[in-house]
Amino acid sequence: MDIATRIRKMGFRKWYERQLIDSHLSFTTCLLCGLTVAACLESISFSEFGWKAASLLAAVAACVVLGMYSWKRYLTVLQRAEAYGDRSHCPSCRVYARFEVLATGTTAEGAYLDPATESLPYPWLRVRCRACATVWRLPD
Ligand SMILES: [Zn+2]
Repeated sequence: MDIATRIRKMGFRKWYERQLIDSHLSFTTCLLCGLTVAACLESISFSEFGWKAASLLAAVAACVVLGMYSWKRYLTVLQRAEAYGDRSHCPSCRVYARFEVLATGTTAEGAYLDPATESLPYPWLRVRCRACATVWRLPD
């Protein structure tokens, strides 16, 4: 499900809250992977290399991969949430997160950018304030 559909379904506040929870779960996963790597490396004895050391090395490798994935996911989800969150106040009446999504897209034309030189990291949303009917676009 894309961002516009999720925001339409649950509202911006709930979507934003879930993005923050999701990103911080990824951060916690990354932290736990780091602690697991440290504990496994502490336990490995290379003088008596056997199945135990090999399985600990496999656990280290798995935790490194999972930790790197979690760190990248943490940054991606948090940056996306902040990109939308920065523009979630109505520019006219300053009401927070009370808007409806009118249109969405991924092309630079819809975002008023030069499609030849600029690209969008996230889909743009054209939204209308429920309080004063002002229309604006997010993220920048
Ligand atoms: Zn407004």
